[in-house]
Amino acid sequence: MSLEEIVKQRILEDGPMSVSQFMALALGHPQYGYYMKRDPFGADGDFTTAPEISQMFGEMIGAWVADIWAQLGQPARFYLVECGPGRGTLMADMMRVLPEDVRKACKIVLMEMSPVLKAKQKESLKGFEVLWVNALDEISAHGPVVLIANEFLDALPVRQFVGKNERVVKVEDGKLVFDPSSGAIVETSDERVKFFQDVCALIEKQRGAALFVDYGYFSGTGDTLQAVYRHKFCDVLVHIGDADVTAHVDFGTLRDATTLPLFMTEQGKFLRGLGIEKRAEYLLKKASTGQAEQIKSGLRRLIADDEMGKLFKVMGVVSGSEIHPAGF
Ligand code: SAH
Repeated sequence: MSLEEIVKQRILEDGPMSVSQFMALALGHPQYGYYMKRDPFGADGDFTTAPEISQMFGEMIGAWVADIWAQLGQPARFYLVECGPGRGTLMADMMRVLPEDVRKACKIVLMEMSPVLKAKQKESLKGFEVLWVNALDEISAHGPVVLIANEFLDALPVRQFVGKNERVVKVEDGKLVFDPSSGAIVETSDERVKFFQDVCALIEKQRGAALFVDYGYFSGTGDTLQAVYRHKFCDVLVHIGDADVTAHVDFGTLRDATTLPLFMTEQGKFLRGLGIEKRAEYLLKKASTGQAEQIKSGLRRLIADDEMGKLFKVMGVVSGSEIHPAGF
């Protein structure tokens, strides 16, 4: 049975399916869900993310973490949590640049649902002690928490509404279709807001900070549900379980969902503020011709306005106003 057949079967049995139920199944069905059975990254996969584009991304985030650790009073133990760590590349790049005292103080916790990606993470972080969890409430932290999530929030299910009607997926003439099929769409994500508030509660209780990087917008809504299959956008209702289904992150709604000190900016500004251009210059000095091209193109993709620089946003939350996160 394919995931498309499973979706149709469920609709026939239980009636039309909300967009959020559809998204959760497409990504997380235990057997056929998109993330559950493959490593989606890289040239042979479906899409590429910032840590996979350049090591400088993880290095900058590592510097950000080290600075937060210092501002927390250099705790002897803290929890470095990453949600949706993919191949583990970001965490491995961070570990390479963290000063030894910070590295020794941190306990790495990875929140990941995919068995395939967990195996990749194990490989990338060989030699480090890592704890895997399936959900935030499995983390029993005995010290400050610094949480990182790159391209994680976009994978959390959204609901869509046209007027008062919730948009659903139904079967028509044997095919999956959206209903209503037209009209102005408003998108919400209870799951994303809940997750965000749980993170805020965790860092408020333990002290610490959280950093979210994702494509999205500061305000305004609309239909942002999208599917990507082999580096190209495709119809959300085809290639089910074989295409990555995500939605842009409504950062404005998250900002309004907490009372903790919160900071937002664009990825390009954030990485420039942390000194990514200086880091590139330094790496270029030691690079071969081939490597130099890669460093330059990586830098451009991460920070240029017409690449990821503006579309991707960065949101930082801290447990108290005595902490001033870098890069904002
Ligand atoms: N941060 C990585 C990967 C982004 S892709 C990078 O930038 O390269 C999204 C990641 O989140 C994958 O690792 C996926 O398996 C994981 N994921 C998605 N939904 C999840 C959920 N509900 N719980 C745990 N992990 C999830």
